[in-house]
Amino acid sequence: MARPVDALRIAQLDARQLDQELVSLVRNQIGRIFEYNQLSLLTKLDPEITALLKFVIWRFSVFATGASVGQQLLRLTYANARAKDKTNPWMSKKQKLLHGFILIIIPWLKERLNLTIDSLGLSTSKTKEKINKYLQWCEKSLKIAALINFALFLQSGCYSSLTERVLGIRSVHPQKQLIRQVSFDYLTREILWHGFSEFLFFLLPLVNFRRMKSILTYYLLPQPPPAQPSSPDSRTMAELTNCAICDLVPHNPHQIGCSHVFCYYCISSNFLADPRYVCPVCKKAVLNFTLISPVDLTEESS
Ligand SMILES: [Zn+2]
Ligand SMILES: [Zn+2]
Repeated sequence: MARPVDALRIAQLDARQLDQELVSLVRNQIGRIFEYNQLSLLTKLDPEITALLKFVIWRFSVFATGASVGQQLLRLTYANARAKDKTNPWMSKKQKLLHGFILIIIPWLKERLNLTIDSLGLSTSKTKEKINKYLQWCEKSLKIAALINFALFLQSGCYSSLTERVLGIRSVHPQKQLIRQVSFDYLTREILWHGFSEFLFFLLPLVNFRRMKSILTYYLLPQPPPAQPSSPDSRTMAELTNCAICDLVPHNPHQIGCSHVFCYYCISSNFLADPRYVCPVCKKAVLNFTLISPVDLTEESS
């Protein structure tokens, strides 16, 4: 029989975190499924649904194998710290059932009690106050106990939660861990890619894509014969209703002195990115930000 090996503190905490995340993940999914119907019923039965979910997870993890899902992911399992029989160091059935009780029933009772107290609106507020006070006192002492337990855990490395200490179960590796074999090639590639992506994140914002695009289109695409210099006076209806850059109906139409019309965003962003920006149709240069002026539509329609 393989002897269990003590688990690292960080692995035990990781396992707990993974367990909590699993529950909230599935809980959110269920919430999203019923997002649009029977919302009131779902909120009413919220503690029951959470408890049921925890039960299903517990039934097929801790109860079936003696290790929670998070522990299984990290190759951990629970061992019975108070086992007298050295040949069977694992959780006993009683411990498993108690674990389920503490994990599922107690949080459910607490939530249900809170909701019932709220909804009943107990006739005498004195009783309500008394119960609330008692509950708060219980909660506070549990929290203090959990804090002390955690300090002890950090010092000794076993029983990461109060439940584990009460039940006498501790996280262990079921067998001696093999050294993780990570190939050197893989590691180098990983580091290289990481460095490369970091470099790209740094570099990309510095590249002026608009400028590059206009230079490339200027040199690579066949250029139409130099268009005649156009002026706002010779503007056609098609030019007025189409932005020369994005080819949509110009939003907040502006002009730069040629017959073409641009959205304010299109022309100003292009000019800011590239001071040598020219009208993409007739190659009229913008030259100066003050030359970008709004199109007077009243004048156009007359
Ligand atoms: Zn536009
Ligand atoms: Zn133009």
